[in-house]
Amino acid sequence: MSHSLFISDLHLSSNQPRSMADFRYMVDEYASKAEALYILGDLFEYWAGDDDIEDEFHSQVVAALASLASHHTRVYLLRGNRDLLMGEALAKACHATLLDDPALINLHGTPTLLSHGDTLCTDDVDYIRHRERMYDADFQRDFLSKPLAVRKTAIEEMREQSAAAKQDKDDAVMDVNDAAVVALLRKYHYPRLIHGHTHRPARHEHIVDDHDCERWVLGDWYQQGTALRVDAMGCNVILLSALTQPLPPLFQF
Ligand code: MN
Repeated sequence: MSHSLFISDLHLSSNQPRSMADFRYMVDEYASKAEALYILGDLFEYWAGDDDIEDEFHSQVVAALASLASHHTRVYLLRGNRDLLMGEALAKACHATLLDDPALINLHGTPTLLSHGDTLCTDDVDYIRHRERMYDADFQRDFLSKPLAVRKTAIEEMREQSAAAKQDKDDAVMDVNDAAVVALLRKYHYPRLIHGHTHRPARHEHIVDDHDCERWVLGDWYQQGTALRVDAMGCNVILLSALTQPLPPLFQF
């Protein structure tokens, strides 16, 4: 049966070899057999601009995704808050298609809405204000005109500030707002919703205007790779770990 895979919040970086190993394993063993792979944001720990494709680590990620074209797996990229600067050049190198947030698709017969999920966290007023600045077209144009090294330093500083701010925030503030979820499901006529961002993997049920809706939250990859497998029968969580596969014996006698 044809099926699709959904992943998000991998936060791939050269400092995290374990998540990169899980990523390669996911691409080779799972995505290569799927009809489509949807990456719903925060593929990278951060993305400073498409001119960073040449970086050795980044080119490994790009090559892994581009290899899926030979298996006829379609690859879709949706921007997260960490990689909101992913552009057409990156998508082209990955043989992928960039998606808008939210994106409404027909997923094996079920209308399904895809989002990174950060726009649903409306209780975090500081973050929403910060997001508006980051997604401003003039701001992005100006930022991307700076040298790559300057952009990387600026992003690293921003990340330190954001990590410090998070420590003072209540857990509930950083989760999705129920009314925002309901408004989104209503606006798109009660589809199924799949998103990431909050790192709180779960399946939620919502009744919106008498319509039964389901919302799947994808997990992050900090401890272990995880994906959502969807076919015409429904959704299933897959735990991926390259390192839990049987290792070859060290010595052969
Ligand atoms: Mn995120």
